Amino acid sequence: MHRRLPMPERNHSHSRVLNIPPKFLAGLFIVVIGLFSGTALYQYHSRKAELEHLLHEESSILIHALTDGTENALLGYRENSSLVTGGLVDQLRLIERMDRRKPLTSAELTEIAGGNSMYRITVIDRNGKRIAWNTPPDHTPEFQTCNPAAILEPLLTGKTDILNLGLRESTSGRGPRLVVAVARSRGGAIVGNVDASRLVNLRKQLGPGRLIQRIGANNSAIDYIIWQDSTAIISATPNVTDASSMQDDPTLSKAQRQNRTIARTINFNGRKVYEIINPFIFQGNEMGVLRIGMKTDHIDEATNRLRTRLIMLLTLALLGVVAVISLMVSRRNEALISTAYQREQRFSAAILENMADAVISIDPSGRITLLNRAAEQLFSIEGQDVTGQNIGDIVPECGRIFMELTGSATSIINREFNCTVNDHTLVIAGNFSPLPEIDADRSNGRGARKRSDIAGAMAVLRDVTEQRLMQRIIERQEKLSAMGELASGVAHEIRNPLNAIGVLGQRLDIEFTPTGSEEKEYHHLVRSIVSEVRRVDSIIRRFLKFARPPQLVLLDTALDSWLQEYRPVLEGEAETKGIHLIMQCHASCSLPVDREQLQQVLFNLVRNAVEASPHGSTITLSTGKSADRAFIKVKDSGHGIDEGTLSKIFNLYFTTKKDGTGMGLSIANQIVQAHGGMIEVDSQPGYGSRFTIVLPLS
Ligand code: ADP
Repeated sequence: MHRRLPMPERNHSHSRVLNIPPKFLAGLFIVVIGLFSGTALYQYHSRKAELEHLLHEESSILIHALTDGTENALLGYRENSSLVTGGLVDQLRLIERMDRRKPLTSAELTEIAGGNSMYRITVIDRNGKRIAWNTPPDHTPEFQTCNPAAILEPLLTGKTDILNLGLRESTSGRGPRLVVAVARSRGGAIVGNVDASRLVNLRKQLGPGRLIQRIGANNSAIDYIIWQDSTAIISATPNVTDASSMQDDPTLSKAQRQNRTIARTINFNGRKVYEIINPFIFQGNEMGVLRIGMKTDHIDEATNRLRTRLIMLLTLALLGVVAVISLMVSRRNEALISTAYQREQRFSAAILENMADAVISIDPSGRITLLNRAAEQLFSIEGQDVTGQNIGDIVPECGRIFMELTGSATSIINREFNCTVNDHTLVIAGNFSPLPEIDADRSNGRGARKRSDIAGAMAVLRDVTEQRLMQRIIERQEKLSAMGELASGVAHEIRNPLNAIGVLGQRLDIEFTPTGSEEKEYHHLVRSIVSEVRRVDSIIRRFLKFARPPQLVLLDTALDSWLQEYRPVLEGEAETKGIHLIMQCHASCSLPVDREQLQQVLFNLVRNAVEASPHGSTITLSTGKSADRAFIKVKDSGHGIDEGTLSKIFNLYFTTKKDGTGMGLSIANQIVQAHGGMIEVDSQPGYGSRFTIVLPLS
């Protein structure tokens, strides 16, 4: 079955996948996507936190390094500053001892200052009034704008004997001075200052400001560094023009108050920065806070990259899931279509297989693609042997009609044709039609079908041999019954007057004698009338005999051996023309026949064959049988019968011979029909004829 009507294999693996309920599948996908997204998000956040942690670590290290560095710088500067201050104090004490012995004059002070690289030495009395001073090399007058009594008040009032006035810008604008004053044992004070440019330079080089600049300049990750106290910015990197004060920014004061490091993300000059704030305490004194602003560009960049990657991954995963779902849906649809197709095919196959009509289909190149069981039986072929072969090689008659179909514009051909199968001539009625290619666009009527759209052709065939034979028999019988009616008419209307004429003729011959010399001629004429009447009567009798159906005496007869017995008679008939009679008996069966009448049938057929055959040729007499019939065939190689003649040969009185009666085949046919059989004829003009007597076995 599958051989003739191939069916698509069911894909079991597909069906297993497809048996998963869609709801479960959807749930599974949601869980998978959820897990995937969760993992990706977790990775994103942990990576971000890691980067932020690194930033925090880096900035913490930096702020502590900066704090320590600032502390060290301050320490270094203080040490230098106290050294210079100590030196100046010692010098002033020496001058004070000199002044104690004898009050120093301005000239002496000028000398002392010049010899000790001091810039200015001023002696102040207990009222804060300058009483002596040196003249510096540049002769710049000093103290003109300041009030010594106010500045030196702790010394003048005896609260302290040394007063460090620190660095002061010279009033003449000639650079910084380190100013120190000591108490004068005579009352008042001796104030001295030295040039502090070197100290200020040192402070610039070693001090926290320098450190802040250096760290800020050398670290690309740092945006800014600020050292500020409650009043103002003490030091900062050059990019800092403005910063929130400790009063305005509670986080700054909180860091100092709680003495702890605080980190935060703020917006600085329109940029996002990570700021770390550290309180700065130097030798127990609150010195404000140190702030380092770390650039967050690289973190933002990395985070953006991570986010983009995450989005891409999620999109890909989503696309993947969509692709898988659509694939599964399409496979499901495909499976549904396939199942429907298989069901359809099984249904069609079952119909085709159980159809009484034979069905053959071919592809555009004429190769057999499908044939059903009825076709196998009709042409006595095996589907597996002929599938894929050219139809013209298997059933040439069908091949020719298929060719006509593809070669013409006709869409359907209905044709009856003869076909020889197993030495039997079958009459087959066929319906040949093209098979259009199934095309979605065209099937909806949107375009004319082209020749290339033809997927092949198919034929639905039916064996109508019996049907046609029955028709011929009926036709023959109709003719015969017409003749029977004619015969009874003839018997009634002609034979009685004819008998009367015959009787009258006999009486004229016996009872009347003419006078004169015509007596002889009279008797001759009268007797001629009588003999002609008898001849006509015998013709009528024969006609009547034919018109009535023959009475059969049936005897069970072994066909082959009975024919062998009768063989000499037939051979004798053939030998009259030097013809060789061959007998091939393979029927091996018994059947009820009227032996005498069947002999007459055979004799008529053999005599016709002899008359049609050339001298010295061969006539073959053969027997055979099928399931329910026996055959006797008489085959000659004579002149044959043309198509026009063939349809008339069984007609009563039809003859093509000069001295023929035209009754031999009519009688033979009548006898065979009385047996329930028939006579079939195959003939090819110029090649010979074959008469087949078909008899039922029972
Ligand atoms: P008859 O033999 O008297 O003509 P039949 O009824 O026997 O009458 O035959 C009718 C006609 O059939 C013949 O005249 C002949 O034309 C044709 N016929 C019969 N048998 C053969 C044959 N074997 N070969 C050729 N023609 C045949």
